[in-house]
Amino acid sequence: MREINQENLPEMSEIWQETLQWQPNHRQQQYFVQIYQEILQGNRKLNLTRITSPEEFWEKHLWDSLASLLDFPLDTQLKLNVIDIGTGGGFPGLPMAVVFPHWQVTLLDSTRKKIAFLSNLATKIGLTNVKTLVARAEVIGQQAQHRETYDLATIRAVGTASVCAEYALPLVKLGGLAILYRGHWQAQDTEALELVATELGSKIEAIAALTTPISHSIRHCIYLRKHSPTPKQYPRAVGVPNQQPL
Ligand code: SAM
Repeated sequence: MREINQENLPEMSEIWQETLQWQPNHRQQQYFVQIYQEILQGNRKLNLTRITSPEEFWEKHLWDSLASLLDFPLDTQLKLNVIDIGTGGGFPGLPMAVVFPHWQVTLLDSTRKKIAFLSNLATKIGLTNVKTLVARAEVIGQQAQHRETYDLATIRAVGTASVCAEYALPLVKLGGLAILYRGHWQAQDTEALELVATELGSKIEAIAALTTPISHSIRHCIYLRKHSPTPKQYPRAVGVPNQQPL
C-alpha cells in the first residue's frame, strides 16, 4: 500500500488546487498526515473507517469533508460554532477544524470509544478548536445548552436524509445551516425532504452535485437553512426518528 506522507501529499495538493481551488498550507498538510496515521493506528482496535488506502482516504474523507463548502456561499471567515453529528472517525468535522482554526468544532458521537479516540487525537496533534461529546443527537437536541446554538451542523452517513434532518435542525440557530452529506440523490428525494425540512423549520436552500477528483463519482450535499424555530417535539425520543422517520 502506498503511504501518505509529507512527500506525496503535495501531489494530492495539486488535485486539491484544481478541484477545491485552494491548497492546504504546510501545517494543514501535516495535520492531515497526522490524522491519517492516527486513524490507521486507531483502526486496529476501533472500527473507525473502512477507507484506509491513502488515495481513498484523501478523496473520501479529506476532500469529501471540505468539498461541501466549495461552491456554497458561506462566509468561512466568521467564527462559526459547528457541530458534526455522528462524526465516527471525525468526518467531516475534523478536516473542517484543521482548515478553519477560528471555528469551534464539536465532534458528537454516541460511541464513547470513538469520541475518546478523537479527543486524544486532537490533544496529541494540538488541534485546540475541537470539542468532543459522547451523546445521542436526540438527547442533546432537547438540551438548552445545545438546542439552537450552532451556526452550522454537518452530518454524513448517519441515517436517511429525513433522520439526519431531525437530528441536525433542532441544534441549528435561526438563520444557521445544516449540511446533509449524501451519496446518490434524486428528484423524489428532494420532494420528500422538502416536507420534512418545512416541518422542522427550514428550507432546502441548495443541492450540490460534486464530482470526486480521483474516482469521479458523484456526491451530493443538501443545504438546509433554518428560518423558524424547530417545534419542541423534535427531535423525538432516542430511536424514534430512525424507527418512524418523518
Ligand atoms: N460521519 C462519519 C463518516 O461519514 O465517516 C461516521 C459515519 S458512521 C457510519 C455513523 C456514526 O454515527 C457512528 O459512529 C455512530 O456511532 C453515530 N451515530 C449514529 N446514530 C447516532 C445518534 N443518534 N447520535 C449520535 N451519534 C450517532
